[in-house]
Amino acid sequence: MRQNISVEDALESILSQVRPIAESEAVPLNQAYQRVLAQDLASKVYHPDADDSAVDGYAVRGEETITASVSTPVRLEVVGEAPAGRPFSGEVRPGQAVAIYTGAPVPKGANAVVRVEDTVRDGTGVWLLKPANVADIRRRGDDLRLGEVYLHRGAWLNAARVALAAAMGYPSLPVVRRPRVGILSTGDEVVEPGQPLPYGGGYNSNSYALVGQVQDAGGEAVVLGKVPDSLEVLKRGLADPGQLDLLLTSGGVSMGKYDLVRRLLESEGNIHFWRVKLQPGGPVLFADYRGLPVLGLPGNPVSSMVVFHLFGRPLLFKLLGRSDPPYTGVQATAATAFGANPSKRVYRRGVLRWTPQGFTVESTGNQSSGVLRSMVEGNALVVLEAGVDAKVGDSVTAIPLGFTV
Ligand code: AMP
Ligand code: MG
Repeated sequence: MRQNISVEDALESILSQVRPIAESEAVPLNQAYQRVLAQDLASKVYHPDADDSAVDGYAVRGEETITASVSTPVRLEVVGEAPAGRPFSGEVRPGQAVAIYTGAPVPKGANAVVRVEDTVRDGTGVWLLKPANVADIRRRGDDLRLGEVYLHRGAWLNAARVALAAAMGYPSLPVVRRPRVGILSTGDEVVEPGQPLPYGGGYNSNSYALVGQVQDAGGEAVVLGKVPDSLEVLKRGLADPGQLDLLLTSGGVSMGKYDLVRRLLESEGNIHFWRVKLQPGGPVLFADYRGLPVLGLPGNPVSSMVVFHLFGRPLLFKLLGRSDPPYTGVQATAATAFGANPSKRVYRRGVLRWTPQGFTVESTGNQSSGVLRSMVEGNALVVLEAGVDAKVGDSVTAIPLGFTV
């Protein structure tokens, strides 16, 4: 078991242990949002399907309109109309125009469009007050070309990507099976919300933070409830991990006599590492329990959330084969001072704001890892390397939370 390792080494250890999920399934488009694409997708169509009009106006022979102006308007005979979805089947001959609407194919003979606002209708004809513009025609395949791959395996299906798959002609999409992530809380003092709170107790909040964090990363959360600090009960809780791809435990990984998750995994599992040089969340542990990867999160609510973001989220991305980064950093100007830890990296909770001068970040105040409110008031983690405090005005790295692409 490695101990007291860096955040980078811990992440590398985790990522080297997990293999991407091979199974995929087909889901209809309306269930594809926030899934991960399992195969490259080539467009089944051209879009636009034909050279079509980008505006409402008149399809004309452009060369006949060159001299058109308000003082020297050009008159053409209107021989038909082309609404979107009902193409004009004839041809535009010299001296003629066809009334055309956005999205309709440009009829044979026409090569440019005059916008309706630059025309005056006059019985069977139309006066053009400006020359036609070829730029108002969208060329076939401007957006999508048949057979070209626009979405790759590993793509996180956000709204725009699902829409693009629809535009390419796919009614359903191959997506990676969601990783099933068990969430087990521990602690004699931890009580489910809704139960009366005994003296010295506290409600289980970690399980419910993790449900959201797992889902945000693309996983399926399986809440396994809470077990007391008893080796026997904990063992029973772990005995049937079902069809899990990952187990998250919360609590019980510190130095205390009752930190039984660590002790059980020490004796009956294989701990890859325990304790990472970071704060909050230093006692984090990563192990293998009968083939199941276990990420042991510290019990403090802030530690649990921060450690999941730094390690659990990348782990899920690896299981899913997601190609986007699990998190990114931005440079921000410190609007308040941030204190470092002399011997380990710290992640402070901050409020990140966009201003005309760039990003600024200010502390949420009390940085104790028991103060869950700091995760609610803050929207970013401010990274401070060991021994490097930040003064007001210094540039710091901030990791936005809940950042999506
Ligand atoms: P532990 O890591 O087990 O020593 O717990 C550290 C602190 O986190 C203690 O104050 C616990 O009461 C608290 N804690 C542990 N598990 C949870 C949980 N599921 N929800 C909220 N707080 C917890
Ligand atoms: Mg505990």
